[in-house]
Amino acid sequence: MIGHNEAEAFSELRAALGPSGFLAGDDIPARNHADSSVLPPLPPLAVLRPASTDEVSAALVIASRHRLAVTVQGGLTGLCGGATPAPGSLALSLERMNGIEEIDGRAMTLTARAGTPLEVMQKAAEAEGLLFPVDFGARGTATAGGIVSTNAGGNRVLRYGMTRASVLGLEAVLADGTVIGSLNKMLKNNAGPDLKQLFVGSEGLLGVVTRAVFSLQPLPRWTGLALIAVRDFEAAADILSSARAELGPMLSAFEVMWPDYWAMVTGNVPGRRAPFADKHGLYLLVEGHGRDGERDGSTFEAFLEGVYEAGLVEDAMLAQSLSDMEAFWAIRDASAEIEPVLGEHESFDVGLPPGEVGRFVDACRSALARELPASRAVFFGHAADGNIHVMASVPDPGPAGHHAVESVVYGVTREFSGSVSAEHGIGALKRGWLGHSRSPAEVALMRSLKAAVDPHGLLNPGKVI
Ligand SMILES: Cc1cc2nc3c(=O)[nH]c(=O)nc-3n(C[C@H](O)[C@H](O)[C@H](O)COP(=O)(O)OP(=O)(O)OC[C@H]3O[C@@H](n4cnc5c(N)ncnc54)[C@H](O)[C@@H]3O)c2cc1C
Repeated sequence: MIGHNEAEAFSELRAALGPSGFLAGDDIPARNHADSSVLPPLPPLAVLRPASTDEVSAALVIASRHRLAVTVQGGLTGLCGGATPAPGSLALSLERMNGIEEIDGRAMTLTARAGTPLEVMQKAAEAEGLLFPVDFGARGTATAGGIVSTNAGGNRVLRYGMTRASVLGLEAVLADGTVIGSLNKMLKNNAGPDLKQLFVGSEGLLGVVTRAVFSLQPLPRWTGLALIAVRDFEAAADILSSARAELGPMLSAFEVMWPDYWAMVTGNVPGRRAPFADKHGLYLLVEGHGRDGERDGSTFEAFLEGVYEAGLVEDAMLAQSLSDMEAFWAIRDASAEIEPVLGEHESFDVGLPPGEVGRFVDACRSALARELPASRAVFFGHAADGNIHVMASVPDPGPAGHHAVESVVYGVTREFSGSVSAEHGIGALKRGWLGHSRSPAEVALMRSLKAAVDPHGLLNPGKVI
């Protein structure tokens, strides 16, 4: 049963957005009840599906006048509960604002509407001989607005930076319906504070991103990929230094898998076989992107020979074909497939000073074994970025059991002056842990910014702060 205020707001919203733009009651699709996090699904009051920036603005004017909270939804692949509807909120989905508006080959930019899937942008750029530099597993569903709002990372941050590095301009709508048109295409624009940065990575807290201009990169014409087995993290760190020195900007990914992750994937996930006969202390994926197969291929092989001769490598395989590359990456990308093996678990995405990664993993593993001996944990991640993913089983299902696992992992993260979120964001799930990585003064500034642009706290309430 909806209240008088809601009934009036609903009829205004239906009139502003039309029948395809406003779904209530039994018409609300189940997919709008939750994102991809472990947070329980919750139906929104209604789903708003605007088809243009003007409709987003009109919807927010109405919601704001009636003091109705709004949860912003992109592709719903977020892992922190940011897009799962806050209790009693409307869901504002950007799904109908889908499409690329322009690819400017000379300026090397792509302008897309917020609901455009990442993979659509990647393929459109590729068709023009260009690279959309952001890439990660959820590429088929994650959207332009989502990757901007979460400042998504992925496998090639080492080379191309996080999403922020590729956002030249954007358009956003504030909670009161004000449209901030900042569709800048210039690399250099110091005309006052760079307002687009308010919306990059702020998880829908400060405004709804409706369009974005991304910078593109030249499409690599050659890719080299090596799977390397080493003794320990010290050897991995030496190989990373060598890769940086010898490959320079060619180095596009440097991923690390600890033996617990390696064994769980190669032993349990169908189609993932261990390519090495023996067991090793650590497994690396090193990727290079180049322009000239002969020249860059020789440089890559010379780098591999160098680290081999330096005694840093126990075993190594150089991908000889596209199917080798897919098979190597498939081991690294199998985290979702080991979820059933781990059972009830917590996934972590911590950031660390890169030099501390090896010591952090040892300390975290010891702390879990000491505090929660029944928990099984696996470690892997983007080592060069200091971004480690930990998946740890929760021996006592239920909120207290989850909190116990979080407490151990985030406690060690704080000891290492790390971040409780390297790339996935805070959302609703990590809100209680923000203080482990941000000072009271930083959180107070976040609250001041929120109050300045959304004084009634209507956009994404209960998220981040
Ligand atoms: C298999 C898998 C692999 C993943 N790998 C990575 C990875 O490697 N790196 C990484 O960073 N993330 C990764 N993610 C997490 C997720 O895909 C990213 O956070 C992604 O950017 C979310 O995009 P989305 O469109 O699905 O946003 P949603 O999940 O819908 O929303 C995410 C947050 O952004 C807000 N939001 C969405 N759209 C807008 C908008 N237009 N305006 C304002 N706010 C908005 C939402 O309110 C929410 O707070 C992965 C997820 C999965 C399921």
